[in-house]
Amino acid sequence: MNNRFYFWSGIRARLTFIILMISLVPLALMGYQAYYNQKKIISEEVTVSHLELSNTLAHGIYENLEFTRRLLAAIGELNAIKQLNQTITEDFFDALMRHFSFFKLMYLVDSQRRIIATTDASTVLPADWLYSKAIKRSYQGSLSEVTASPDGVPYMTLEAVIKSPERLGITGVLISEVNLSSIRDLLRNALKNSKSQGLVLDEAGEVIAQSSPSTRALNIPIAETVENDLTRLRDIDGEPYLITAVSLKKFDFYQAPNWTIVLQIPERIAFDAVYKFRARIIRILSITAIISIMLAILLARGFTAPLANLIDGAKHISSGNFEHRIIPMSGDEIGSLTATFDEMRVNLRTTKADLDYRILQLSTLYEVGKAISSELDFRKLQNMILEIVVKVIKAEKGSLMMLDDAEKTLTIGVAVGLSEDITRDTRLEVGESVAGWVVKNNKPLFVNNVETDPTFQNIKKKNVRTGTLMSVPLTAKDKILGTINVSKSTPESFSEKDFELFVNLANQAAIAIDNARLYRYAVTDEMTRLYNHRYFQQRLDEEIQRADRYENHVSLIILDVDHFKNFNDTYGHPEGDRVLKAVARLIEKNVREIDIPARYGGEEFVIICPEKNGEGSLTPAERIRTAIESFDFRISGEHVPIKVSLGVCCYPDSASSKADLIQKADAALYYSKQNGRNRASLYNPIMNRKES
Ligand code: GH3
Ligand code: MG
Ligand code: MG
Repeated sequence: MNNRFYFWSGIRARLTFIILMISLVPLALMGYQAYYNQKKIISEEVTVSHLELSNTLAHGIYENLEFTRRLLAAIGELNAIKQLNQTITEDFFDALMRHFSFFKLMYLVDSQRRIIATTDASTVLPADWLYSKAIKRSYQGSLSEVTASPDGVPYMTLEAVIKSPERLGITGVLISEVNLSSIRDLLRNALKNSKSQGLVLDEAGEVIAQSSPSTRALNIPIAETVENDLTRLRDIDGEPYLITAVSLKKFDFYQAPNWTIVLQIPERIAFDAVYKFRARIIRILSITAIISIMLAILLARGFTAPLANLIDGAKHISSGNFEHRIIPMSGDEIGSLTATFDEMRVNLRTTKADLDYRILQLSTLYEVGKAISSELDFRKLQNMILEIVVKVIKAEKGSLMMLDDAEKTLTIGVAVGLSEDITRDTRLEVGESVAGWVVKNNKPLFVNNVETDPTFQNIKKKNVRTGTLMSVPLTAKDKILGTINVSKSTPESFSEKDFELFVNLANQAAIAIDNARLYRYAVTDEMTRLYNHRYFQQRLDEEIQRADRYENHVSLIILDVDHFKNFNDTYGHPEGDRVLKAVARLIEKNVREIDIPARYGGEEFVIICPEKNGEGSLTPAERIRTAIESFDFRISGEHVPIKVSLGVCCYPDSASSKADLIQKADAALYYSKQNGRNRASLYNPIMNRKES
């Protein structure tokens, strides 16, 4: 449907039209002009030949008439005729009739209107015949009217006066009827070799002679339609004729009759050659038209096929298919347009791929951001970030290094694909190795190939046996928190886009890490790095609610360093602080992941043990006590024993609220202090402080 549409309304149709116009219009115009010129020339030629013919005919006719007239005049001069001798005259008439076939009838009339001699005994004078008029006619040489005889041959009457031998006066009139078939013969003879037809008409338009019996005359007098002897186009019985009419009066003949010579030729015969020429032109035009159309189709295909190719390609692009290659079909402008179009397709494909990648990047960043921003647990967060980054970037190894502000060193927080030893022992100065360089210069580093990268060659290497690596500083609020590093063993297997995404991920990770860091700062005790009192209170609320919800236990352990006042007094406050830090580490080490150790205040610590009853919590309490008791705390190389007392209570077994739980755990601690210290006691109602 579409193709057909293109065919008729597109280039093909226009091209066909133009070629048709170019080839046909001049040809048609030339043909038209030639046709009319030929017609004109032929008309002129017809006129010329008709005029020549009529000239010849006119002279022939005139001579014929003149001969007859003179012959009659000569007869009238004969003595025998003058003497009106019947016998001699009639013999003479017979002889004349035999010699000149145009004489139809001859007779002699005397002055008394008596027929003296005749070639036909039945001859009578016409009723209106007047002697005087005959004499007058004879002198004037005028001719009688033409009359058609019953046999169809027209004839006319000629008269000659007879004078007396003594020349004393007119004694009679010689009358002869002359048939005009000689004029017909003349006409036929003159037109023997012509395609034209001829007519001789008298004054009244009656036919005197015609070149063939079938020759037709105009059915109105020729003088009414033809004023002079030019050739005219007239219809005779519906058929057009070229007609030339010449009057005998035109010639300077003495006493010529007022006859008209008409020469005519049917248009179809006169213009036969022209009509054949016209038919030939039409044939040539038709053939030219067919050739033009074929040529146009061929030419149009030359144009439209590359265009159709281009349109097809464009359709693929518009439908989002950038893989369809458009190959130029020609080396012309359309070809170069096609080539340019294909370049555009490639560029579009690249741009689209870029955009797709950017969308992937953004959605990844969004997902990652959403995941890590909700995680406040510092360690969990670090793990989560590294896992995501390694997965998204498709790295083989990765590490997240944290910068210790005070010590200006970088240690590995979490790692993927690194040995435990390396993870634990790696410690980099600022400026040292890759991560150190990144922190020092505070800018991302992308080493495409460690073998060839000039920047990398200048960086001091440590544990780097990779092909390609990327390292980015984790910067939040202009503070460098650490670095995130990924690597692959095959050089050049990260792209610039990977690097870009990696930098963006690192920026997001830095913000999350900074948030977690601030949160940790808000909930931890600065010296012992355990949770602070406020956080403990908040968590204990939550854990009690959870225990209520799941009908579970939650136990609380309270710990107090024994005789710490004495210790401070003996070794000084700083050494006391060191003890508190050591105790904090030992508590951390001896509780489960889900337990929540916190500094309650001073030298007192608390541990929330979710999902554990009182008995169950005595075990870790005892374990902590033993660990502290057996810890080799040294001051100036000398061992100083540290001991603690603990109290344990369980909600809801022994306590009815948070305050009750804390108070009863404290009562148990008090019980331990009262009963020799360095021990752990489970709350029992008898331990109520007030009672003891
Ligand atoms: P008891 O065995 O009965 O607990 O004896 P004690 O001396 O430990 O008594 P108490 O618990 O009342 O003493 C608390 C002492 O802990 C008082 C204070 O000097 C010391 N202390 C509290 N906070 C700190 C601290 O942050 N650093 C140091 N070095 N000492 C502290
Ligand atoms: Mg105390
Ligand atoms: Mg104490």
